[in-house]
Amino acid sequence: MDEPILSEDEWKKRLAPERFRVLREKGTEMPFSGELLSTEKEGVYSCAGCGNIIFSSEAKYDSGSGWPSFFDIIGEDRVEKHRDGSYGKDGMEITCARCRGHLGHLFDDATSPTGLRYCINSLSLEFHNKSDTNDNAIVSEPLTPTP
Ligand code: FE
Repeated sequence: MDEPILSEDEWKKRLAPERFRVLREKGTEMPFSGELLSTEKEGVYSCAGCGNIIFSSEAKYDSGSGWPSFFDIIGEDRVEKHRDGSYGKDGMEITCARCRGHLGHLFDDATSPTGLRYCINSLSLEFHNKSDTNDNAIVSEPLTPTP
C-alpha cells in the first residue's frame, strides 16, 4: 500500500472534527453513542475518510459491546491489521487499507458466527443504503490534495 497522499492538515480540512479525532488520531467514540450502532438496514459500510467499501450489512450483528460490530469484511485487502498491546493480546487495530484511517479493533468473540468481531467506530463509517445505490455507484473520494 502506498503512503497516504494527503497531509494531516488536508484531512483536517476534509473531515468533521469528531471524525478527524477518530480516523486520524485513533480516537474512540463513546460506547452506545454511535449513529450506526443499531442500523439494521441492508447496504454497505464504507470508510468515512475515503469511501473504501469495507463491510456489508449481512455481516453486522449485535455484539452488545456498544460499537457497530461485524463478523466479516468484504475483502481482506480492504483493511490492515496492527498489533495493539493496549487492547490485550487478542485485540488488533484495524485501519483502512486505502487511506490508513483508524476504524476500530478486531477481537476474538465466541458469540460471533466466525469467531471474530470487527468492533468499529460509527464515526469511521458511512452507511450506503442498498435501495439507494449499488457497490459500483459509490464514488470513492480522490485522495489528492484540494487545490
Ligand atoms: Fe479510508
